[in-house]
Amino acid sequence: MQNFIFHNPTKLYFGKNQLENLTQELSKYGKNILVVYGGGSIKRNGVYDQVMTILKNADKQVFELNGVEPNPRVSTARKGIELCREHQIDLLLAVGGGSTIDCTKAIAVGAKSDNDIWDIVTKKAQATDALPFGTVLTLAATGSEMNAGSVITNWETKEKHGWGSPYSYPAFSILDPVFTKSVPKDQTIYGIVDIMSHALEHYFHHEPNTFLQDRMVEGILQTMVETGPKLVKDLENETLRATVLYNGTMALNGMVNMGYQGDWATHNLEHAVSAVHDIPHGGGLAILFPHWMEYVIDENVERFKQFALRVFHVDPEGKSDKEIGLEGIKQLRRFWTEIGAPSRLSDYSIDESTIEMMADHTVSAREEFGNFKKLNKQDSIHIYRQAL
Ligand code: NAP
Ligand code: FE
Repeated sequence: MQNFIFHNPTKLYFGKNQLENLTQELSKYGKNILVVYGGGSIKRNGVYDQVMTILKNADKQVFELNGVEPNPRVSTARKGIELCREHQIDLLLAVGGGSTIDCTKAIAVGAKSDNDIWDIVTKKAQATDALPFGTVLTLAATGSEMNAGSVITNWETKEKHGWGSPYSYPAFSILDPVFTKSVPKDQTIYGIVDIMSHALEHYFHHEPNTFLQDRMVEGILQTMVETGPKLVKDLENETLRATVLYNGTMALNGMVNMGYQGDWATHNLEHAVSAVHDIPHGGGLAILFPHWMEYVIDENVERFKQFALRVFHVDPEGKSDKEIGLEGIKQLRRFWTEIGAPSRLSDYSIDESTIEMMADHTVSAREEFGNFKKLNKQDSIHIYRQAL
């Protein structure tokens, strides 16, 4: 474990009826609020009305940016930045899933910068400040509600990049599991896969002395293995929704990976796929993660063995260390397939024809990526071909 500084400034309100705390949070900011949301799920499940009533009672001047896309576009963020400048927005409020929150982060930072937000996303320019923003989360998946990361797509150049800055943490996030009850089955499955993938990205590293971190990450994975299938069969179960919601936040708020860096190659591989094909993030991860694992297992067989034994309780009898590790990967693939996640790129009608383009995107920001094993364009091509 390396030296580290941990600081996460996001104030979390978790549980039923926690939206009532929005009133006290609003009192800290000025009058003009920009509410950012997606394609309308919050209008159908009543969250929009609840939020608007609180804003009205707090005597706020409310502006709205709706239609944030899943895989949010830089063009939408630019619209939001314009609105912030035009109406002198004091606080942004993201109401929705990770896409809405990620877009809000880009708006918050972009509104306080002279640079175009795409230059900040692509790291040609640096974030220097941001408007304050809060979130009301409606989907368990990304952890964006309690981290500084954001993933933005440029549809013209077919690029999708993750970025972050010290300014892009939410000031507060309100997580009521009841708000996630209306998430449809497919998005629930993608969320489960995304949460587990964040844990897996942390898990594969070569850093010694991460004994507690390993146990925490394994705890998230095991809890998801126990809870995920039950939730997929019982979508309105509030207890299961709460468990998954809490796991989602913990998997990517910095708590379980202090003192070491995870891998993140599979997220990079997936971003390149969804930039070109606009597929759901969790769907792409379910396809790619087991293939990445099979490709890199020889880098550290011991780690894969530990994963297999502790998360999937693989029977080691008569197996070599590598066979145990490979069995763990097989179990992970089976687990995701059984809950209904896709397993091949062809499930999204992706064929050989775009592999070169996607592989180019994996190395557009830097020649090599991934920390567990450095990968290059040829490696990307290999993994995509395996996943066809
Ligand atoms: P999302 O893209 O925010 O939402 C997916 C869909 O679920 C949307 O159609 C949305 O509808 C719907 N939805 C959301 N809440 C709902 C509810 N309560 N009831 C019914 N439908 C609901 O999904 P996400 O998985 O949270 O975010 C995915 C994005 O986050 C990707 O771009 C991914 O790359 C990125 N990501 C970010 C991080 C990070 O740390 N920042 C980490 C991993 C991934 P509406 O649009 O109508 O609301
Ligand atoms: Fe993710």
